[in-house]
Amino acid sequence: MRLWLLGVRGSTPAPGPDFVRYGGHTSCVAIAADGHDAPTLVLDAGTGLRTLTALLPGPAYRGAILLSHLHWDHVQGIPFFVAGDHYQSVVDLYLPAQGGLSGRDLLARMMSPPSFPITPEGLRGAWTFNALPPGRIDIGGFAVTAAEVAHKGGRTYGYRVDDLSGSLAYLPDHAPVQGCSDEVRAMIRGVDVLLHDAQFLESERSTADLFGHATVDEAITLANEANVGTLVLFHHSPVRTDTQLDALARELAASMPVVLAVEGQRIDIPG
Ligand SMILES: [Zn+2]
Ligand SMILES: [Zn+2]
Repeated sequence: MRLWLLGVRGSTPAPGPDFVRYGGHTSCVAIAADGHDAPTLVLDAGTGLRTLTALLPGPAYRGAILLSHLHWDHVQGIPFFVAGDHYQSVVDLYLPAQGGLSGRDLLARMMSPPSFPITPEGLRGAWTFNALPPGRIDIGGFAVTAAEVAHKGGRTYGYRVDDLSGSLAYLPDHAPVQGCSDEVRAMIRGVDVLLHDAQFLESERSTADLFGHATVDEAITLANEANVGTLVLFHHSPVRTDTQLDALARELAASMPVVLAVEGQRIDIPG
């Protein structure tokens, strides 16, 4: 499979000259199945989702979108995804089931007046909004596993995606200090690529704990324990400049390959 990192920031977009190289869009990863050119699976719909339209062979998106959770930095791209808001689009959107509400009603909590001009059904095309329980599901030829992870404010999932070519796990917002379940550890065990929350540094520990996020060191420890192939540090703090991220990349010490996510980066699995 092939991944495109379309947004690698957490919390808010980070525009400006200090954020050009690592990019300023919030969380979004597009995935094409092995042997296919076009992405048909998207992980999270942060502002980076806007840039997916240019990668598609046609004007409309046909595929799925999996949301890790409903915080703004993971959903704000939805109504601005031109190929999704298109009369020919066919989009199945999945989000963590919670509170006994439908997928539509959960999304409408942030996407409806007065917070936003339209409701979910105002999107053009054929959309479905699905409240997803934890567990295994086949979506468009991918085997998807969803497991609940510790974060703050609403239910949050980490995902694993497998196809015949390989595997990746995606945990953009995760507070391992609150406890990492056996289920989550099993889900990420041995994946080819792990994209993991690395918003904070150990020197920012109190803020990381307050906001329910991981530190870079925690991400590395988890990846080491899970014996992953490559760790991709993801969900960078919106105040971390290119210069600071370069410095961080030079200091990393781990027993497996570790890279910092860069907006626009393409990752092939197997690499
Ligand atoms: Zn986030
Ligand atoms: Zn979050």
